[in-house]
Amino acid sequence: MPAPTMPALFVSHGSPTLPLDAVPARAFLSHLGESLPRPSAILAISAHWTSPVPALNTTPQPPTIHDFYNFPPELYRLSYPAPGAPALAGRVADLLGEAGLRAALDPVRGLDHGAWVPLMLMYPDADIPVVQLSIQAHLGPGHHLQLGRALAPLRAENVLILASGSLTHNLGALRFYRGEGGEGEPDWVTDFAEWVHEAIAQSRVCDLISYRALAPHAVDNHPTDEHLLPLFVALGAGLHETASPAEHERRLAARRLHASSTFGVLRMDAYAFD
Ligand code: ZN
Repeated sequence: MPAPTMPALFVSHGSPTLPLDAVPARAFLSHLGESLPRPSAILAISAHWTSPVPALNTTPQPPTIHDFYNFPPELYRLSYPAPGAPALAGRVADLLGEAGLRAALDPVRGLDHGAWVPLMLMYPDADIPVVQLSIQAHLGPGHHLQLGRALAPLRAENVLILASGSLTHNLGALRFYRGEGGEGEPDWVTDFAEWVHEAIAQSRVCDLISYRALAPHAVDNHPTDEHLLPLFVALGAGLHETASPAEHERRLAARRLHASSTFGVLRMDAYAFD
């Protein structure tokens, strides 16, 4: 029996306070791990580690990085002591190299909150080794799709690709809505999230890559696009060639696992690419 192929996941990590907030997205993530085949290792891609070229941490015991400021003290006491997986980092570097993408190895870097917040909810025992791969915030969606395509073989090697960002991410609007108690989710957030959802459901990959030009209110939802870039890594790892040899377009087998918002404007949606 061949090993089951792991889905590639995109999750929204939201505010660093997610472990403390009783919101639907926390409940969703708390049950997500047990709903999946158990991976032998996890490759986490977070919006919070960007570097000039793709980088992988080779740390045997990656420290928990508290990369946020002016949050409740109990958040700074949380840690996620999962082991690293230097061998997996080497395997990923090889896959990226085969795709013409030079990778750097980082022997010091730990796990930032974009990685450990969802992992803590999904796998609270912290007993599955984790490697983190950086994004390149200056290189845009197309580059991250290529990264994901290079990583696709990991899915058959029982490695969970966990890409963590935010389906919408306007922190200025977040402060306003949190402060003023904005009522419900504004249309400019809903319209953007539904456009992305339709495009994924219809495998409109080229439209997604051009989302900043095509999606409604794209720049309002992503003043900078680093929190959406992890989506493209998961999407690239989930692309399928079509059965017809005449057609070179690719298809997605995507499931929206979760949709909600916190503070009105932060969409917490999650997708699995099978
Ligand atoms: Zn974030």
